[in-house]
Amino acid sequence: MKSQDGAAARRRQMSFALMCMAATAVLLPAGAMAKDTGACTPGTTLRLSAPESSQGSLLLIEVKSAKPLVEVQGDWDRRSVPFWREVASEAQRKGLVGVDLEKEPGEYELKVTGEMAGGGKISCMARVTVRKGRFATEKLQVGKQFVEPSPEQIKRADEERQKLRDIFDHVTPERLWDGKFRIPLDGVTTGSNFGRRRILNGNPGSPHGGMDLPGATGTPVHAAQRGRVVLAEELFFAGNTVVVDHGLGIYTLYGHLSEIDAKVGDALEAGTVLGKVGATGRVTGPHLHWGLTVERARVNPLQLVTLLGNSSGNAAR
Ligand SMILES: [Zn+2]
Repeated sequence: MKSQDGAAARRRQMSFALMCMAATAVLLPAGAMAKDTGACTPGTTLRLSAPESSQGSLLLIEVKSAKPLVEVQGDWDRRSVPFWREVASEAQRKGLVGVDLEKEPGEYELKVTGEMAGGGKISCMARVTVRKGRFATEKLQVGKQFVEPSPEQIKRADEERQKLRDIFDHVTPERLWDGKFRIPLDGVTTGSNFGRRRILNGNPGSPHGGMDLPGATGTPVHAAQRGRVVLAEELFFAGNTVVVDHGLGIYTLYGHLSEIDAKVGDALEAGTVLGKVGATGRVTGPHLHWGLTVERARVNPLQLVTLLGNSSGNAAR
C-alpha cells in the first residue's frame, strides 16, 4: 500500500505542474474497414477498422448478418462494447472499442453476440492485439513550489477526479449523437500532447489524457456532436470544464475554458458553442484541452473524427 500511496502522491505532484507544453503526438492512421477477422456463426461477418490496436486508440467494429438483427452486444476484456444501428441497414451494427492509453499491451478477446429477427442467434470471437502506444516523453526540472500542491488542493483534485470517474462509469443506453464528430475549434485540423508522459524532477507522472488544440482566448468551442451536458464547472487542474455525454458510454471533455456557455442538463446539437478557449486551471497559456472517453477508456479524440467521419445521418437510435 505504501508504495502505491507514494506513487499516487507523485502522480498528483506531476499533475500539479500540468503545463500542456507543445509536443508531437503520434496518431494511428485510421483507414477504411480493413480486416475481416474472427470466427463467427455461419452467415455472420465481423470486421475491424484496423488489424491491431495500440494504447489510446479506437477500433470501429462492423457486424453483418444474413438476416435483420434485433439485438447485438459486445464484450472486450470485461468491458461492454457500445453497438448501434445506422439507417437502412437492419442486418448490420457498428460498435466502438476504446483502448485506454495505459492498457497493458497484449492480446484481448473480443466477443460479440446477438439475435436475429425470428430468433436465431449470432456470435463472433476475435483476438485484438494491443501494442504499446508511441507517446512523447518530456523531462523537466522545476522548483518545488510548482510540484507540491497543498493538502486542500490535493483533496479537491482527488474529489474532482472521483466525480469525473463516476460520470464516465455511467453508460447512457441511447445513442445521442447523430452523424460525424467534429474537432471543436473552427479551422483547427490537429492537436498535440495526447498520451504525453512527463517526468518531473525524475518522477514519472500520469499521462496526458487528452489532446491540446491551439486557440486564442475567446475562440468559440463547439460541441463535437449532439449530446447532453453532464458537467459544467471549474476544476482544479482542468479549470472551467464542460463534459458532454453522447450516449453509449461516449463522453467528450473541454477544459481550460475562459467562459462556460452551457449548463448541466442542456441538450446540445452538434456544433453548439459550449464555451470559449481560455487558460483556466493549471496551464501556462490558452488552448483547448479536448478529451474523449469511450467506456471509461481514455482515447485519442481525433480518432473518433476519423472513424465516424463518414457516419450517415438520420440514423436509427
Ligand atoms: Zn491538456
